[in-house]
Amino acid sequence: MRMVKKRAIVKKLPIVETLGCCNVICSDKTGTLTKNEMTVTHIFTSDGLHAEVTGVGYNRFGEVIHDGDIIHGFCNPSISKVVEAGCVCNDAEIRNNSLMGTPTEGALIALSTKMGIEALRHDYIRRAEYPFSSEQKWMAVKCVPRTQPDKQEICFMKGAYEQVIRYCSTYNSKGLTLPLTQQQRELYHQETAYMGSAGLRVIALASGPELGQLTFLGLVGMIDPPRTGVKEAVATLIRSGVAIKMITGDSQETAVAIASRLGFYSKGLQSLSGEDVDTLDIQQLSQIVSKVSVFYRASPRHKLKIVKCLQNNGAVVAMTGDGVNDAVALKAADIGIAMGKTGTDVCKEAADMILVEDDFQTIMSAIEEGKGIYNNIKNFVRFQLSTSIAALTLICLATLMNFPNPLNAMQILWINIIMDGPPAQSLGVEPVDKDVIRKPPRNLKDSILTKNLIIKILLSSIIIVCGTLFVFWRELRDNLITPRDTTMTFTCFVFFDMFNALSSRSQTKSVFEIGLCSNKMFCYAVLGSIMGQLLVIYFPPLQKVFQTESLSLQDLMFLIGLTSSVCIVSEIIKKLERSKDENPKQSSSSSFFLDV
Ligand code: ATP
Repeated sequence: MRMVKKRAIVKKLPIVETLGCCNVICSDKTGTLTKNEMTVTHIFTSDGLHAEVTGVGYNRFGEVIHDGDIIHGFCNPSISKVVEAGCVCNDAEIRNNSLMGTPTEGALIALSTKMGIEALRHDYIRRAEYPFSSEQKWMAVKCVPRTQPDKQEICFMKGAYEQVIRYCSTYNSKGLTLPLTQQQRELYHQETAYMGSAGLRVIALASGPELGQLTFLGLVGMIDPPRTGVKEAVATLIRSGVAIKMITGDSQETAVAIASRLGFYSKGLQSLSGEDVDTLDIQQLSQIVSKVSVFYRASPRHKLKIVKCLQNNGAVVAMTGDGVNDAVALKAADIGIAMGKTGTDVCKEAADMILVEDDFQTIMSAIEEGKGIYNNIKNFVRFQLSTSIAALTLICLATLMNFPNPLNAMQILWINIIMDGPPAQSLGVEPVDKDVIRKPPRNLKDSILTKNLIIKILLSSIIIVCGTLFVFWRELRDNLITPRDTTMTFTCFVFFDMFNALSSRSQTKSVFEIGLCSNKMFCYAVLGSIMGQLLVIYFPPLQKVFQTESLSLQDLMFLIGLTSSVCIVSEIIKKLERSKDENPKQSSSSSFFLDV
């Protein structure tokens, strides 16, 4: 199924319905919650210099500014060394302002073009590469200068600060290589935390003769702005009882800063590292998982454990993923969501839903669609059952009361096929009510036929049966069954059907609130059914087949007045229920969802 509004592809139809029950969404940060358009904004060198970087996106427009001066080329060796390492230890390319490679690497290439040193990467021949992985969180390359291939190899490394620093024994101080002291480490650690708490992704850079003997060069902080509309989507989902959890490879400070900015990390909630997830067993993690809204320095393998723990607590979990190793968690989750743009084929295959634009907001639209489809199924069931029960009861009662049959076989067939079919089908395409997203998720175990719905179905059936029998009795007062009597009864039942369909369009809102003509298919179906009925009453060849006769305008007006009662009663019930909902008593099921 294809969701046009926010462009998600849902691969299995039942999953759309499950989406309406989803009460926990575990999402990646980069790309889903944020735009995935990284830009370096801050540089910190190992000898304590700070530089700001202007410009946005993968292009050369922008400057590196230190102490009010524009830094270009190698005019400040400390800054240039940081930028050089980021440029050489890099697989991305920017061509015509478009990026080929990962956004993190693209941001580093854009930085080097702003400094005019992007060509430096071609001055080296790459002899070996240690590729980046989410588990390892660093990347390194071994190179030799192109002009002196016999010279000693030089390693460049970039990655998460705590990983890179493990391979460093010295640091660069104004061109000198000094031993790395505890004091220096603490300074770098503080700076990493400071940049992270501003919501920046921090990359540490180092170079040296070999891994383990590297010289720490500095840090760069890159911004990845949240996607527009995500904050609002998160707020709406949280208000409706859906818990949002972020699983990211970024540091605690960065993850918490982004989560707070997006509104799903606040007092009372915790953050947990990937390492902590490893040390806790399923039982221990299940106990605390409901209070954790941020998992930082986590890798794809942690996702499965998190899904299992949430499911242990009875939650219906939607999990996003893009990598090959996300596939297991996507399969285990109730709703596996793959990224359409950045996702691998394996994860798309394992997922139930693919976000075409990788946008978190689409998940909200999908949940909205899921709830809407479920409501439409409910409306359909309500209409079909009430008219079927009414028709059956009508015939049974007439037989029991020794009345002649109020409807002949052709009329019953006409009601069943032509009158019920199209209006019922059109209830299935009722536009999704905007307010549905604010309703709490449905309990997966709840049956479609709730007690409340059964009462409504029976009430409608009773009104239809009583009204139709009344018309039949009124026409039969001359004790003679004529075509007029059955025409009146038949038309009365058909009109009841139409008004019943009208009131079944929503279980909570009045027909005027949802708009009389908001469902075009419904309008066509009802108009078609009424036209068909008029033909059956007034068109002589059909009159013969259905044994009907023409009714006067007065008769029609009387029938419309009487049959509208089924709609009026239903509207009064909706109003009463709405006013009750305005002073809700917390139901046990919704409090369960809010706890998760
Ligand atoms: P998210 O799930 O939020 O998109 P992620 O889990 O994919 O993020 P990773 O890409 O695994 O996060 O990044 C984790 C850390 O590894 C980052 O905070 C950064 O310090 C470092 N890092 C990211 N990309 C690279 C890269 N290409 N080379 C070296 N280090 C990187």
